[in-house]
Amino acid sequence: MDYYEILEVETSATTAEIKKSYRKLALRYHPDKVNEEGRDEAEAKFKELTNAYEVLIDETKRHNYDLYGNAEGPNGDNGGGYGGYDDFYGGGGANGFGPEDFYRFFNGMGGDEYGYASSSPPKPAVPRTDDATIEVDVTLEDLFKGKVIKTTITRDILCTLCDGVGYKKNAINKQCPDCDGKGVEIKIKRYGPGIIRQESVNCTKCEGRGKIYRSKDKCKKCLGSRVQEETKIYEFEIKKGAHSGESIVLEGASDQAPGKQSGDIRLTYNCKPHDSFQRKGDDLYMKYKITLVELLSGFSKIVAKHLDGRALKITTPKGKVLRPGDFIKLKNEGMPSKKKSASWFSSSSSQKRGDLYIELEIEFPQDNWYLEKNDLVSLLNILPTKLQNKLDIEKQEIPSDCLEDANVEDISDIIITNKQLLPQEKEHHENGHGHGHRGQGSNGQPECPQQ
Ligand SMILES: [Zn+2]
Ligand SMILES: [Zn+2]
Repeated sequence: MDYYEILEVETSATTAEIKKSYRKLALRYHPDKVNEEGRDEAEAKFKELTNAYEVLIDETKRHNYDLYGNAEGPNGDNGGGYGGYDDFYGGGGANGFGPEDFYRFFNGMGGDEYGYASSSPPKPAVPRTDDATIEVDVTLEDLFKGKVIKTTITRDILCTLCDGVGYKKNAINKQCPDCDGKGVEIKIKRYGPGIIRQESVNCTKCEGRGKIYRSKDKCKKCLGSRVQEETKIYEFEIKKGAHSGESIVLEGASDQAPGKQSGDIRLTYNCKPHDSFQRKGDDLYMKYKITLVELLSGFSKIVAKHLDGRALKITTPKGKVLRPGDFIKLKNEGMPSKKKSASWFSSSSSQKRGDLYIELEIEFPQDNWYLEKNDLVSLLNILPTKLQNKLDIEKQEIPSDCLEDANVEDISDIIITNKQLLPQEKEHHENGHGHGHRGQGSNGQPECPQQ
């Protein structure tokens, strides 16, 4: 079969197109991706595919193939000379398509479209020791002011006497025959379909030392275990304005182990709920209850103790009537912001801050709050008793000339309820507009009932 047909591309296909198609097909026919019965067939197909790819991706080979029908040129034999497939599963990469290419190929899948072409050969992943995670509770005050957390951590480090070898420094040794003194073997590990990783694994015979020692030369300090414990105080600095759930990472500060990279120490801080303040981004929110009189007359009071200990005293503007749903906004009284200040002239020492929003909750007086009827009368004399908005007046006032006396029904048996107690609305809609409504014209004006 023609190489172009195998790769399902035009004879004019670009290198990029060939790569793309190969990737797609290679995934489909990869022997690890099919079930037991189909494996032989898939393996043959995959081999054929890789063979074709190897030729068409190489400019010289492709040229030869186009001209002479084989990759080697006029004297070459048809279809031979490729051993790359076997290289995936062991053996040396004599034909230039070794494990590294395979690695590169699959790991390029998730990246840019032609990751294969642009990525450099990967370094084998060195195993890491476990990351150490620490979780601490902090207060909103801590996040406001910043805090240094000191904690004692005990970890394994390489034995300081033998530098993690486990044997005396000048002990007699010979080169390990299994790894030729390298101490490591490169292994390809499969983590799932299409996920391949190279790992350097410690040679089992010499345990990564590359050398073989006599057992009587074991290090006196670690007794051959190669590690010792170290206890140290670590400092983690939580910056002003940090957010709950963030982490501070000390890279490579976790356990040390021979032949392994040290993992990280990660300290995650979680903020406990605050009694007064709630945080949203860099802004703070709090609720503050005022009386109906304060709503009308304004107030001047200490409303909160801020996170830095200051008392916040608020005086509302003279004559200002506060309304249900109003917030009082205090600029720059929120959390320190990690965002850079927008204005060029502000010095770097003055950190930008969010705002503080105080939600006003109104406490209405109890029923029968007045002591004498006179209190009510004086109130009626002071406060406006008429609606002030002209539209509201027009909407609610029913012209007297379209009402007969007999049509006025006195209802005293009323129930005062509230939103929470209303009947729950059902999904379906009652049909009919205006049904059961008091007649109201489309112009929003009250109408007299017909007839
Ligand atoms: Zn070895
Ligand atoms: Zn030692």
